[in-house]
Amino acid sequence: KDKSTLSIVVVGASGDLARKKIFPALFALFYDDHLPQNFTIYGYARSVMTDMELRNVISRTLTCRIDKRENCEEKMNQFLKRCFYHSGQYSSEEHFLELDSKLREKEAGRRSNRLFYLAIPPDVFVDATRCAKHRASSENGWTRVIIEKPFGRDTESSRELTRTLKQYLTEDQIFRIDHQLGEELVENLLALRFSNLVFEPLWSRNYIRSVQLIFSEDFGVEGRGRYFENYGIIRDIMQNHLLQILSLFAMDTPVSLDAEDIRNEKVKVLRSIKPVELKDVIVGQYKRHCEGNVCYPAYTDDPTVSNDSLTPTFAAATMFINNSRWDGVPIMLVAGKALQSKRAEIRVQFRHVPGNLYNRNSGTDLDKATNELVLRIQPEEAIYLKVNNKVPGLGMRLDRGDLNLLYKSRYPREFPDAYERLLLDAMKGERRSFIRSDELEAAWAVFTPLLKELEEKKVVPELYSYGSSGPVGVHYLAAEHNVRLGDFGYED
Ligand code: NAP
Repeated sequence: KDKSTLSIVVVGASGDLARKKIFPALFALFYDDHLPQNFTIYGYARSVMTDMELRNVISRTLTCRIDKRENCEEKMNQFLKRCFYHSGQYSSEEHFLELDSKLREKEAGRRSNRLFYLAIPPDVFVDATRCAKHRASSENGWTRVIIEKPFGRDTESSRELTRTLKQYLTEDQIFRIDHQLGEELVENLLALRFSNLVFEPLWSRNYIRSVQLIFSEDFGVEGRGRYFENYGIIRDIMQNHLLQILSLFAMDTPVSLDAEDIRNEKVKVLRSIKPVELKDVIVGQYKRHCEGNVCYPAYTDDPTVSNDSLTPTFAAATMFINNSRWDGVPIMLVAGKALQSKRAEIRVQFRHVPGNLYNRNSGTDLDKATNELVLRIQPEEAIYLKVNNKVPGLGMRLDRGDLNLLYKSRYPREFPDAYERLLLDAMKGERRSFIRSDELEAAWAVFTPLLKELEEKKVVPELYSYGSSGPVGVHYLAAEHNVRLGDFGYED
């Protein structure tokens, strides 16, 4: 039997992320017996609350998956009894010392591991890390700290954050989370590439003509205007989520599946990407849109956003990877808020078949008939390949059909949330899906010059209506690089 204990401290326990994601993920892990026998969860924040009040708040967001409704209530009660709360300031070593003595009481002299999840705004990351390190780290087990983006605003601030955190923690103790890396389909990317003979030989400039990574949301900032105003869509989605997915998509075969081998390959790809240039970018901002009596607000209608804000809520950027595998292949990253649909996907367009017999007399549009592989991360995970097929019957007419692996048909069950997978990895010390500091540095290098130029030149974003398919300019950008946009209204 494992004699050690695990103490999980959710710093910022009164907040949105803790309530909506972290506690439900911890409960799901508990339900499936993934937490060790001896564990305690402590919420920590400035708000004054009793243990019971914390339990009441989090109990409202706990759910059991459809196939796991048995004993659900009983399991919830058992879980809630292991949750406690301590109120304190993020910069007070004294308050963290109080937390430490409560943790020790629960740990009862056993070997103790401690996991801190910093679900707090970035300006208090360093304070909380310092206090946790000095006053509440484990004396006989490991101490790890999970932090969420934003990891700085540009190369300099990110470097400074890394430098400061490393005054208190070693790189091995820092778990920089990017929840996209916990998504089922992103996890599957390497398995798809490296365990199927049919994909890897085609995975290069020889056969692939363009790649798109698309992340669209069908809602606006909705109350998070103050945060968003300071970051914008490029920092919020592209520099982290999309670049992370791209690095897994484009990297070379790692030596093994070990975290360091995978992260070494990711860094190599990121460092091969040329910094994005302004001429290869379109930025947009959503404007008010009314349908009948229903009106959807403009970004600048948010009370915390100024009327003349130039913050992009949409961006499309074409980039190139300067290595032998990807030389010259346009890679288009698209991210936006308040668009027609909610979607995250990778679209790989293959070159046309040379001397294609069927284009000569079938009237098929040569350009549209190329194969396309789509990896849909959300909603409804799917992998499908568009292939040309003869329409059954007399005559010879081609049709484009899908070889379709729709997850809900093949795997008809609910999948663990990304936070569950990543929390479990952090507890096990599995670092594969967490971002190493050199990866972060390389990712900022791709976007920092562009971000500075956008701000210095005060580039005005192109307006697009709330609920539309984004600014018109994106079509010109795609055409310039010969990218066939994944039907930007997003229907196939
Ligand atoms: P939040 O609700 O705004 O803040 C979490 C807690 O931090 C609050 O309950 C509050 O607790 C404390 N806090 C808020 N403003 C503060 C300030 N100015 N100074 C000191 N403490 C403050 O944030 P969140 O949405 O939970 O997100 C937490 C972190 O994860 C943030 O860094 C965010 O950028 C990141 N993140 C969030 C999401 C998401 O889905 N929400 C997604 C990705 C990343 P007390 O007042 O009780 O101390």
